Amino acid sequence: MRSISYSRVADVATAIATVTADPDAAYLAGGTTKVDMLRIYAEPSQRLVDINDLPINHIELQPDGAVRLGALARMNDVAMSPIVAQRYPLLAEALVLGASAQLRNMASMGGNMLQRTRCSYFRDHEAACNKRVPGSGCSALTGVNRGHAVLGTSEHCIAAHPSDAAVALSALDAVIHVQNRDGHHAYAIDDFFLAPEDTPEREHPLQHGDLITAIEIPPLPMARDSLYLKVRDRESYEFALVSVALALRVEGGAVAEVRMALGGVATKPWRARRAEHALLGRPATHEHFLHAAREETADAVPRSMNGFKIELARRTMVRALETVTARGGTP
Ligand SMILES: Cc1cc2nc3c(=O)[nH]c(=O)nc-3n(C[C@H](O)[C@H](O)[C@H](O)COP(=O)(O)OP(=O)(O)OC[C@H]3O[C@@H](n4cnc5c(N)ncnc54)[C@H](O)[C@@H]3O)c2cc1C
Ligand code: SF4
Repeated sequence: MRSISYSRVADVATAIATVTADPDAAYLAGGTTKVDMLRIYAEPSQRLVDINDLPINHIELQPDGAVRLGALARMNDVAMSPIVAQRYPLLAEALVLGASAQLRNMASMGGNMLQRTRCSYFRDHEAACNKRVPGSGCSALTGVNRGHAVLGTSEHCIAAHPSDAAVALSALDAVIHVQNRDGHHAYAIDDFFLAPEDTPEREHPLQHGDLITAIEIPPLPMARDSLYLKVRDRESYEFALVSVALALRVEGGAVAEVRMALGGVATKPWRARRAEHALLGRPATHEHFLHAAREETADAVPRSMNGFKIELARRTMVRALETVTARGGTP
């Protein structure tokens, strides 16, 4: 039994000062990850600083056509916002297909970016886990790894990244805005999420006390016809085995613009740059779609139970590409 303290702050500067000053302190947003982590002793924080009163829950269209999501905007509010649903359907779909209605009403966009892996060994204190205890080993390498990653893995960790929204945001080249005592920092989403390599305990570049304030999505007209396709063991309330976030513009029968990212198969939201490269300028046909999907997964590393994800990822990419193409692409 340990005691946990709780306080509530009303402005950004106080929030940052309070958490930065105390190594045991942590931000509390919707609490849908944080409280779980405390319950299972996976994180040591003992002082929760509730940030729900901070004025960072906006969903705003910027003059340049970008959309800015406050870190405390709730998943459900973002998904239902016409600003998002019309411009970035792939993000609205990724959010609606995540968690449950109750969770989406509580869970914030900032917290969503920092949710922790669903690898069962990470949540089991009897198991070796490099992410929880660096240097202790990785039980998943020889254990139950059906849900684990095949792309971006290392010999130290093969956990799949859990967020759906982050996959859509990766395809959209979103920028994560962060505030700390020294000022403001902006991270391209691809630089924000780190592959495990030798340090699986480090999932992002944030330092203690860094506060995510907003997520900015640049304008992308072709994203108006986009798709988030999520394949999972059951149709709701389940994490992805494979997911594909796709924005595609077909012109004269050929791929004129494409953005694609994968979820469920990689250790971070996986921008499918090889597939994009293979598709650009090529005929929008099954044959070329399959070639691009094979290119993207060429370096995938299967483990004892998750080899099926490679073929599933290929088929899901092809299905997503064919679905958007059949709809006629961006008007
Ligand atoms: C049963 C279940 C099913 C789920 N299914 C899915 C799913 O299918 N797809 C999916 O994508 N997600 C899923 N989730 C995860 C859910 O989306 C996340 O738990 C949620 O988005 C976290 O947001 P939160 O506001 O509750 O964060 P919190 O739990 O409050 O915080 C999470 C972490 O982020 C930190 N933090 C929070 N806000 C900030 C900030 N602004 N700046 C810096 N640090 C911050 C906290 O200190 C903590 O470490 C599921 C969760 C549960 C419990
Ligand atoms: S896959 Fe990563 S999170 Fe899971 S046991 Fe191995 S080191 Fe831990």
